[in-house]
Amino acid sequence: MKPEKVEFDSLIWSEKPGVEERIVTRKHHSGELIEIPVVRIRGAKPGPQLTVMSGMHAGEYSGILAAQKLVTAVKPEELSGTLLIVPVISTRAFMERNMQLNPVDQKEVHFIRPGNPDGSFSDMLIDTLFELVKDSDFLIDSHAGEMAQALISWVPVPMWGPEELRDKSLSLALGFDVKYVEPRYDEPSIPPLCLALLDAGIANIWVECGKNGVPTESDTAIHFDGYLAALRTIGMLEGEPARPDQQTLRGRRSQINADISGVWHPAVKEGDIVEKGQYLGRLTDYFGNMLQEYHAPARSIVLYYWSNPAINADRRPHGYDWHNGLVSLLELEES
Ligand SMILES: [Zn+2]
Repeated sequence: MKPEKVEFDSLIWSEKPGVEERIVTRKHHSGELIEIPVVRIRGAKPGPQLTVMSGMHAGEYSGILAAQKLVTAVKPEELSGTLLIVPVISTRAFMERNMQLNPVDQKEVHFIRPGNPDGSFSDMLIDTLFELVKDSDFLIDSHAGEMAQALISWVPVPMWGPEELRDKSLSLALGFDVKYVEPRYDEPSIPPLCLALLDAGIANIWVECGKNGVPTESDTAIHFDGYLAALRTIGMLEGEPARPDQQTLRGRRSQINADISGVWHPAVKEGDIVEKGQYLGRLTDYFGNMLQEYHAPARSIVLYYWSNPAINADRRPHGYDWHNGLVSLLELEES
């Protein structure tokens, strides 16, 4: 059965337990059409609402496949509450095999606050997404490393707003089989969409698992098993939630960017702990002549690095440092 296309303004969900699949559409003033696939599983018993969403950055495939798997894994008769699943948020970018930035307006949608549907295409996309999920109590947003991004698996938790909300957000992270959970207190380093969700009372995390645009079975399973653990943690499914070993990461985000274009030769790998002053890599011209060397500003863990050699310091749409980023670090606090 083909899922029904429904215009955003006329979307109504059933009150009865069951599974409904919709492609929600909304016309942008540019003439471009927003399309967001949404599945709503209404449980037979009362309970909270959880949203699982993925594909905000369209080449981060492990979460997309895990969210899709969740659609058929959860049965209404076993569920307490309501589960919303958005397998791919940025469908336009997904179908164009576009990395990180939205292909229509070149915006980074994680950094957009909802509430501006009259803005650009990405503004309306995020506003539409927010309107779809805003009745949720909890939200898990699955990410991974794009094709150009070699990334460790970890779960950042935005620690913002009331204590109770922070605890709820943290509880969502406990079932993901990743090495690190990172409670993030530094407001400027929390994506504005996460802050808007917290302001609406929605406990949320984003999960980084998978790298270089390759959806491996094991990375997809980490997202999927994490969803099930979260559903058990908040009482929407029966059973003991998984509690894999995790370490807590605390520190300050910093990023090494190039201010000139060139060919990047990284000397570190994701997950490396680098000491202050340690060599991180070099930028050359096309011929291999040295342009610049880069060193760590402080003792840090490499959260990810750009494994793609093409570094373009002139391509910075809306100021976003995606094409000139080299290494993303978390400066470790001395313990
Ligand atoms: Zn992402």
